[in-house]
Amino acid sequence: MKSFRHLLLTLLCAFPSHSYSWADQGHTAMWEVAQSLLTPQAKQRVDAALAGDKLDMTAVWLDRVRDVGKNEGPLVGDAEAADFIKAFPFHFTWHYVDMPLDVKSYQAATGFTTRDDVVQQINLCITVLEGKSAKFDARTALRVLVHLVGDIHQPMHCASGFFDVTDPQHPVLQTALDKCLPLKKLKLEDRGGNQLFFGPEKYDQMHALWDFELVKKLVVVGSLPKILKDALPKINTTTPGAIHTWAEQWAGESVALAKAAYAGIEFGPCKLNTTGKGPKIERIEIKLPAGYADQQKSVAGAQLVKATARMAAVLNAIWP
Ligand SMILES: [Zn+2]
Repeated sequence: MKSFRHLLLTLLCAFPSHSYSWADQGHTAMWEVAQSLLTPQAKQRVDAALAGDKLDMTAVWLDRVRDVGKNEGPLVGDAEAADFIKAFPFHFTWHYVDMPLDVKSYQAATGFTTRDDVVQQINLCITVLEGKSAKFDARTALRVLVHLVGDIHQPMHCASGFFDVTDPQHPVLQTALDKCLPLKKLKLEDRGGNQLFFGPEKYDQMHALWDFELVKKLVVVGSLPKILKDALPKINTTTPGAIHTWAEQWAGESVALAKAAYAGIEFGPCKLNTTGKGPKIERIEIKLPAGYADQQKSVAGAQLVKATARMAAVLNAIWP
């Protein structure tokens, strides 16, 4: 008989939570610019850790590792990726934390945070790079850290809509922690906007809109790295307090932005998947407010700039 853990993993793989944030283009551009902001010591340590890296994919390595589960992508057959997956079977949950929209801080989100969420994993990477943990090597820690600092700034990676689907024709969005907790247990959530569809196509999806469409909309003229570089001096990217509290502060900012990103959306009929144990939300038809993408693209842009500066800030704080 297969173990419960195996069964859980199979189920989780069959319904991977969250797609790829900020697209490869966003992650790669942020890391390119962040490297130009490093202190000489940080630059030297980063270069040393990444030396001999045959795969030029630091910022998207963690997404490519996830592809291996589907037997796809350039890391299929890669021994290092295989070892990583074996050691960290829950790596695919590291990219996000599904908090209710009304939550005011990461610490207040009891019942929604986990040991394998984006905040905990950023902190683990920091601890590894500080030389205080040997959970993985510096190269892995850098790849994971750089990727997750990008992810945590995508609002849909820090929040989820939880729905009362008593009447599936009229699903009701719940935002308060106490109302969301029982819905979370029933898994009646949109998984960071992944189950919210504003059109019939596969990617007419709220999460994909944030991952791809808004990034695409930002690049009207020039290249994304140049756009980020030019915007850096105009945005306050500083994070107060100790370095190990930064990730939870960033998650708190993202959930507030997610709340604003859900405002004005009309929720139409919900299709439930009843093949498993208890119904799950397969899709909810939504109507976005007029001009939604144009309004939210500036939010996405500011988040990309913050993530860029903060990737460098973390590394500079570790290696001043
Ligand atoms: Zn990711």
